Order: sequence, then C-alpha cells, then structure tokens
Amino acid sequence: MSGVLVAGATCRVRVLLLGGTAEARDLASRLVDAGVEVTSSLAGRVARPRLPVGAVRIGGFGGVAGLRQALAEYDVVVDATHPFAQGISANVLAACETEGVPLLRLERPGWDPDPSWRYVTGHEEAAALTAQLGRRPLLTVGRQHVDAFVPHLGDHRVLARVVDPPDLELPRAWRVVLSRGPYTVEGDLALMRDHRCDALVTKDSGGTYTRSKLEAAGALGVPVVVVARPAPDPRALVVHAVGPALDWVLSCG
Ligand code: NAP
Repeated sequence: MSGVLVAGATCRVRVLLLGGTAEARDLASRLVDAGVEVTSSLAGRVARPRLPVGAVRIGGFGGVAGLRQALAEYDVVVDATHPFAQGISANVLAACETEGVPLLRLERPGWDPDPSWRYVTGHEEAAALTAQLGRRPLLTVGRQHVDAFVPHLGDHRVLARVVDPPDLELPRAWRVVLSRGPYTVEGDLALMRDHRCDALVTKDSGGTYTRSKLEAAGALGVPVVVVARPAPDPRALVVHAVGPALDWVLSCG
C-alpha cells in the first residue's frame, strides 16, 4: 500500500468517515492536512460531541437503504466507529458491498489482557458475574448498556460513569457520575477510593482514553469484568491504526 502523495498533487477521492472515536478525529485531521475531501459522520448520540476538523454530518442514515443512497456522494468509506458500534458497522458493510464502494474498517486494538481480568461475552453475563463479585461496582459500559445491569445490580451501590445521563430511571442506591475521558490513573484511583469500589465493569474498548481505570483497579486489587468484543466480520478489510488507514485512502486516489 503506497501512502506517499507527490508534492503538489491532490488526492481527489471523496471520503465518508464514520466516526465518534479519537482515531476517526485523528484520521480526519490527517486527511484534511493531505488535501483530501472528507466528511465525518457522527451518530448524534452525545449532547456535546467532540467535532473533527473538516466537514461533518450528524445523525443516522436510515439503515442500509439510507446508507446506500448516501454513498452516491462518496468514492470510499472508512468505518472508524467504536469497536462496540456493531449496528452501523454491519450496515455500512452491507451498503458498500451492494454499491461496490471500497470500505476500510479502522478498529483500534483491544487492551492487552491481564490474567486477572474476567472476560464475558455480553452485558447480561457481566451483570450476573459482577453481582457475585462486589457490592459497590464502578460501571463504565456506556449509557446505552446501563439497563442490562439493573436487574442483577438493583440493590447494589453502583457508581455508573457515563458521558450523558441514562434515559431510564435508575435504582435508588445507584449514583451517576457524568464525565468524559481521557482519564488519569490518579483521578480514577481517587474516584474508586471515594466510592469504595469493589468491582470494575468495562467493555474491551481499547485505546488510551479510558485505560487508567484498569490500572487503578489493579493497584487497588479490585476485580475487573471485561465485556469481550464482538467477533469481527470476516468480510471486512481491517486496519488497527490511523497511519495505515491514511495510506489506504491515499492509495485509492
Ligand atoms: P450502533 O448501535 O452501531 O448504531 C446504531 C445506529 O446509530 C446506526 O444504525 C445508525 O443509524 C446510527 N449511527 C451510529 N454511528 C453512526 C455514525 N458514525 N454516523 C451516523 N449514524 C450513526 O452505534 P452506537 O454503539 O450507538 O454508537 C453510536 C456512535 O457513538 C458511533 O459513531 C460510535 O463510534 C460512537 N461511540 C460508541 C461507543 C459504544 O460503546 N458503542 C463508544 C464511544 C463512541 P441509522 O440506522 O439511522 O443509519
């Protein structure tokens, strides 16, 4: 894959970049710097999204059919959405296949597993296991998945850390802390000590923004429950870092 632009040359490819991640913002910035026409797409889920440089569109496409229509405006697509954003990744794969539009999946690697972490295959399983492990878990699975923990942890003293408030009524014993990474080990140690956390629940999001909680849990001897990633679609062309994604786009021009 060649990623070298000849000085003065312009890469004419029009890129749809499905984002909502730090990697997508990084790629958008590097594409703009390289003179590539890129439109970042955000779902519109959070109240105050971090905006990438370059053109931005916000909101769903309306499933595969809507994506297929939208693809008429673009030459290539990079799906740099979060590793757990399964719906949009499946939709864009189907739409690009049907329309014959080249698609690259940019997915950050998961965290290097620690032997003490307990991996589970879904949020239900995470909830059931956490109920056995502690009374005061720190829940960091994102607003959309909080509901899966209510049946198992309704009478636990859960501290749920989310970017925006969950849109369901939470048990009275629960507390919500609204914040957004990147976090620090010092900050996460203080949070977990203050709440006297005795378990941590996370998805295998990977990356550096939210990794500090794992170090804090390790330092405090708090058990960690990790929701494993969904299996990747074998049809997807995948890279795990921004550099190769940039190279791929430039090679398409
Ligand atoms: P999802 O379940 O895979 O997608 C649900 C629907 O939201 C999609 O069918 C699509 O609506 C719309 N959508 C999702 N991502 C979009 C995007 N980048 N641009 C336009 N529409 C999008 O997604 P999710 O897990 O809710 O994640 C939503 C966004 O938040 C993603 O962009 C993701 O990168 C970011 N994010 C997710 C997580 C997470 O843990 N899931 C964490 C951090 C950031 P239509 O069907 O109408 O097209």
